[in-house]
Amino acid sequence: MRSSEAGTIHIVGAGLAGLAAAVRLAQSRRAVVVHEATTHLGGRCRSYYDSSTDMVIDNGTHLLLSGNHAALSFVKAIGSDLGLQGPPEAAFSFVDRMNSEQWTLRFGDSRFPWWVFDKERRVPQTSVVDYLPLARLVWTKADKPIGEVIKCAGPIYERFLAPLLLAALNIAPREGSAKLAGAVVRESLALGGQACRPLLAREGLGAVFVEPAISHLQKQGAVISLEDELVELNFSGDRVTSLDFAKQTLKLGDDDAVILAVPPYVATGLVPGLQAPSLFRGIVNAHFRIDPPARLPPMLGVINGTAEWIFSLPGRISATISDAGRLFEMPRTELAQAIWNDIVVLTGVSAKLPPWQLVRERRATFAATPEQNALRPGSETSWSNLILAGDWTATGLPATIESAIRSGYRAASLVGQRLEAAA
Ligand SMILES: Cc1cc2nc3c(=O)[nH]c(=O)nc-3n(C[C@H](O)[C@H](O)[C@H](O)COP(=O)(O)OP(=O)(O)OC[C@H]3O[C@@H](n4cnc5c(N)ncnc54)[C@H](O)[C@@H]3O)c2cc1C
Repeated sequence: MRSSEAGTIHIVGAGLAGLAAAVRLAQSRRAVVVHEATTHLGGRCRSYYDSSTDMVIDNGTHLLLSGNHAALSFVKAIGSDLGLQGPPEAAFSFVDRMNSEQWTLRFGDSRFPWWVFDKERRVPQTSVVDYLPLARLVWTKADKPIGEVIKCAGPIYERFLAPLLLAALNIAPREGSAKLAGAVVRESLALGGQACRPLLAREGLGAVFVEPAISHLQKQGAVISLEDELVELNFSGDRVTSLDFAKQTLKLGDDDAVILAVPPYVATGLVPGLQAPSLFRGIVNAHFRIDPPARLPPMLGVINGTAEWIFSLPGRISATISDAGRLFEMPRTELAQAIWNDIVVLTGVSAKLPPWQLVRERRATFAATPEQNALRPGSETSWSNLILAGDWTATGLPATIESAIRSGYRAASLVGQRLEAAA
């Protein structure tokens, strides 16, 4: 059994939660070792070379908002903030696949929601009073399904709230947690257009979130260990005493600590008595190798289509479908063709199916129901040198990049406090 170097923080899991914790701790000059089970970093937020399209693609096009302050501070810390790009204003274009009606929501720059009062900027066929349900979500006290808090029907729902909440929570909005929906509204629309500018890693998730994090960590002296799967934590009293990895065992000293930043279904197998979300929802992404037409906006919300969002990216058009469990058994070519048909009708590109790839992530996020949300644990555990991180811990946000990074930052600060208290 090898002994860990004194004062080392072992971060297990190199998704964005683990990477955010590592970046924070490495900046504060702590010795950091990141252990990742697979051959790559980034977890559910990653890019890879795909031979079908001969392109580097993302497992899923990830949308951020300008109000995602933790995510923005992370990319700034690793020097890739310019890679997150979006329009200068908070504008969201939509099209209805049934009748080709198009509209663009423009939230403006003001904190006050003037856009709601302007017929040209709000959702067609809605009036000012239709927007009151947003306040009901923000002020929800006890958690309930969204369907019990607001009316899930009518133009405001079909054309605005449903696409917004489905994308943010990755669950059919009716079933989703009103508390999580309220948090999304509180941190975006309630702060005005400045917090709602859509941001995309147009050159790929790897180029913005992962590769710069690796270089940054290596420059700071952090160690990154790939194919290093944690299989068991060993405990004595109120401490973790050693870590059994598939290929090595590490004995922890008094000054060492562990941040466990693995998915919930792995964490519950490692930490005795841990309660965590156990139901998940899938996301489908399709990537088509084609130069997008100039008239296609960077992202287009689709109502009544198979595709829910269409993205115009360098050399490709991508589409995303949330809570997509119903599509997981559909033959791949049939699904790619159905999504492509939407793109053809809505953007006017040639009907010939270009090289494509489908990515179906079954456990993209935990199921954001009130019941599953209530199972999310805090970062602290009963063991003084073991802290949890991950988008599934109790951040108060749905499972998103922002949630993952905030959890990583919180874990880093808790570890720092504990080590200082013990010194
Ligand atoms: C298709 C898709 C689309 C998405 N779209 C968006 C979006 O538009 N906007 C948004 O904000 N969020 C989006 N998300 C969610 C976002 O990707 C996640 O919230 C975030 O990446 C989670 O990061 P994490 O670090 O908490 O977990 P993970 O990324 O799951 O990281 C956990 C890491 O632990 C590793 N690991 C597991 N077991 C072990 C072990 N025993 N030992 C060592 N390592 C281990 C895993 O390999 C992984 O690298 C999307 C997710 C998916 C899948």
